[in-house]
Order: sequence, then C-alpha cells, then structure tokens
Amino acid sequence: MSVKKIAVLTSGGDAPGMNAAIRAVVRTCAYHNIGVVGVYRGYQGMIEGDFKEMNARSVRDIINRGGTILKSARSKDFRTPEGRKVAYENLKAAGVDSLVVIGGDGSFTGALLFNQEYGFPVIGIPGTIDNDIYGTDFTLGYDTALNTVIEAIDKIRDTASSHNRLFFIEVMGRDAGHIALNSGIGAGAEEILIPEENIGLKKLLSSLEKSRSTGKTSSLVVVAEGDKIGKNVFELKEYVEQHHPDYDVRVSVLGHMQRGGSPSCFDRVLASRMGVKAVESLLEGKSNYMVGIRSTKMELTPLEKAIKGSSKINTELLRVAEIMAT
Ligand code: ATP
Repeated sequence: MSVKKIAVLTSGGDAPGMNAAIRAVVRTCAYHNIGVVGVYRGYQGMIEGDFKEMNARSVRDIINRGGTILKSARSKDFRTPEGRKVAYENLKAAGVDSLVVIGGDGSFTGALLFNQEYGFPVIGIPGTIDNDIYGTDFTLGYDTALNTVIEAIDKIRDTASSHNRLFFIEVMGRDAGHIALNSGIGAGAEEILIPEENIGLKKLLSSLEKSRSTGKTSSLVVVAEGDKIGKNVFELKEYVEQHHPDYDVRVSVLGHMQRGGSPSCFDRVLASRMGVKAVESLLEGKSNYMVGIRSTKMELTPLEKAIKGSSKINTELLRVAEIMAT
C-alpha cells in the first residue's frame, strides 16, 4: 500500500518537545509530497473527527514551544470497539491511511489495538517526561524536565543553605526513578529516593546523620513520586522530625511545572529525528513500531515490546550518587 496521507496526534500526558515532533512529522510529509492532518485532542479528536489539514507552514514558530498545539486528551471512548470504529471511519473519510501517535505506553496500546482491528499502519513516538519506556534511551521531554528540575532545586538549595534546612523535594517520574536519580546527581542532592531501590527509613536517617557529622549544615533529598519507601514527602518530613526534633525540615513538591517550558536543544533535535524516522518508516511500509534512540542511533522497537518492557535504571549512576554524597 502506498502512503498518501498521514494523521498525527498527541495523546496522554503532554511533554516538552511534542510540538517539535509534530513539526517534524508535518515537514517530513511535505518533503515527501504526502498529505498530513493534525488530529486535535488525541484519540478523542479522532472519534469526533476533529482534524486539520496541515502543511509545512502550519508548524512555523512551534519548535520552541512547550505543550502541544494539537492538544492532548485521555479518551475513554477509544477504549471501546465502538469508539475505535468511529475513529476508523473518520480517518477513512478524511483520506488518511497511516497514523503517527506521539504519547506514552497507554497511547501505544490503543494504537496497537487499532492496528489489529483495522490493519491501519501506526508508528509511535515516545513523548513523556518520565523516560519510562522500553526501546529508547531517552523519551521526548525528559531532558527538558531534568533541566527544569535542577533549575528549581538550585533555587531551593539557596534557601536551604541560608537557613540550615533539610528539604525533601518530590519530583515526577511515576513508577520510574530516572528524573529523581539524574536531577539528584545534577543538583548535588545528599540522598535520592527512587522506586527501583528501596533504601528504607533507617538508612535514610543514618545517611542524614552522617551528612551532619561530616559538617553539612543543609541537605537536599530528592524523592521520586513513585518511591516505595512507604511514605510520601510529607510523611517523610514527619518521620525525620519525630526522630530529630532539632532538624528544620521543609517539603517542596515540584508538580506540573516539570511538564512545561520550552524544550531543550536535545529534545528539539530528538523530536526532529523521531519525526523523520516515524514518517519514513511508514513510507517504507513498516507498522506497529516505536521510534527510539539507542546509543545515538535511531531504532525501531515493536510497539508490543515497548509497551510490555520496562526501562532500567542505570546502576552506575546509583554508585556515582552515593560517592558524590560523601
Ligand atoms: P502518559 O505516559 O502521559 O500517561 P499514556 O499514553 O500512557 O501517556 P494513557 O492515559 O495511559 O497515557 O493513554 C492515553 C490514551 O490512550 C487513553 O486515554 C486511551 O484513549 C488510549 N488507551 C490507553 N490504553 C488503552 C487500551 N487498553 N485500549 C484502547 N485505548 C487505550
């Protein structure tokens, strides 16, 4: 089948670099003289027929913008066979024959189902700040989020050291500790709590005590939101205060600011490469793959593997973090 028109959508949580990826998909289509439509609000827009014909000029001035001009959404209707049928009919009516989905593993699961039911060619681009997708060393938005986080922690460090305080800083990442581990090292945290490594409350206390005894007057502890230590950051604060009433403990939950902002150069280049690879893979007749980057090279991973696999934490970084906290 020759590809005549591709639809592109962003789905699930937004991430910086999604716009740069939309731009890359649209421009690659223009380069190869094939049509492209943008679908608004992810799968929900597919069901509601919320499409817009795009060309190379429709994506001007967006490479530097966070969020997604196509908007993102979570669609309950797309989880039903009836919803997917309407989506398929809308795409057919618009002359669309292939799909690029920019999103996370949930979005890829939907894309795979859609392919299985209608034989519709699909390629995924991993867009999430969490870096928790198998088959790529980096997801889109992760590098920008790391930079946002260390900028915020640097500022917290100023106030922490001025008041000799201990700060628990919660960062995003869902069930993965990539953001916490890397930003923790990058921002010079004393301790980093991630779901992949349950250090336990006792060890946390002894580590903080050791920090004090070696002359540190303030401490930063970066905590991944999915940490399995059994306590959230506010409970951690209470726990430490119970055992060390003399500690001046504060909590900062960075929250959604981590999702926003202008994408880093790394994410813009990654998005551009992923967009080109996604469209050209469809043109080569490939389907049901996720585009990723591995050891600086663009690679395809079967969507099924990307969904089921998990991204591993780099254990060397754990050791670096431990040594840096000396
Ligand atoms: P994030 O990593 O930000 O959560 P995600 O792509 O994993 O992104 P989800 O909310 O899990 O986000 O999925 C996005 C959308 O994909 C859902 O709202 C739904 O429309 C579709 N989807 C997810 N899982 C399925 C499924 N099992 N069947 C059909 N569609 C699905």
